[in-house]
Amino acid sequence: MLNIVRERLRQGHRTGTFPKEAPKLPERFRGLPTIAQNLTPAECAEVAAACPFAALGCSDSQLQIDLGRCLFCADCPAAARGALTFSGDYRLAVRKREDLLLEDKAHRLADKLDKRMRKLFGRSLKLRQVSAGGCNACEADLNVLGTLVFDLGRFGIQFVASPRHADGLIVTGAVTENMKGALLETYAAVPEPKLVIASGACAIAGGPFRDSPEAHNGIGDLLPVDLYIPGCPPHPYTALDGLLRLLGRL
Ligand code: SF4
Ligand code: SF4
Repeated sequence: MLNIVRERLRQGHRTGTFPKEAPKLPERFRGLPTIAQNLTPAECAEVAAACPFAALGCSDSQLQIDLGRCLFCADCPAAARGALTFSGDYRLAVRKREDLLLEDKAHRLADKLDKRMRKLFGRSLKLRQVSAGGCNACEADLNVLGTLVFDLGRFGIQFVASPRHADGLIVTGAVTENMKGALLETYAAVPEPKLVIASGACAIAGGPFRDSPEAHNGIGDLLPVDLYIPGCPPHPYTALDGLLRLLGRL
């Protein structure tokens, strides 16, 4: 017993200081992109067409990016030519799908829920995670939120096993045909009022599985989405930031 207490004192307090202080992420982390304005119409069309995930578009010479489709892989001529540069800003989550479409406008971060919903969920939010056909990286990074550095429970947010005990779903994966029925049944089992969160490029728009005949392009056509968390996978701080914004805690 004494050894346990001694070890506990030696380890000290490991929980991160977020949200009081912004997290220090590694330099290689790719967050909110900025878009160069100096392309000719031909260059713009060329780099936009080169994204294999259809995340880029072009209006005259203005490059546009869909954060819901982008995998933040930086493996494209747009990134190589400096037309697209990724910042270290992990704050990406939004409430509306159209807010993930960026060109020269400022990124609109997620608004909080209305007063009634915040009264219900602001201090205690239970979520059922549904893996609807992803690669497991999104699920792993949501799992990280339960570890001592992030300690999701200190915000009153928990993942629960049963949808009947949940206030909403957090969905990962593009929704394969095999998972569609299970997802819809799980959603139906959550009592009203309920929230739906799409976490990761697959759940938002299909990710690398986009337009596969075996998968839907995310949950947008199947369920009403309250929060979109971009990334492939989203960084745990991106998810935590989005959840706290939704609850009006940031
Ligand atoms: S970073 Fe990857 S997904 Fe995003 S625009 Fe470039 S190639 Fe497409
Ligand atoms: S968004 Fe990326 S990390 Fe998440 S399930 Fe899809 S492929 Fe995997």
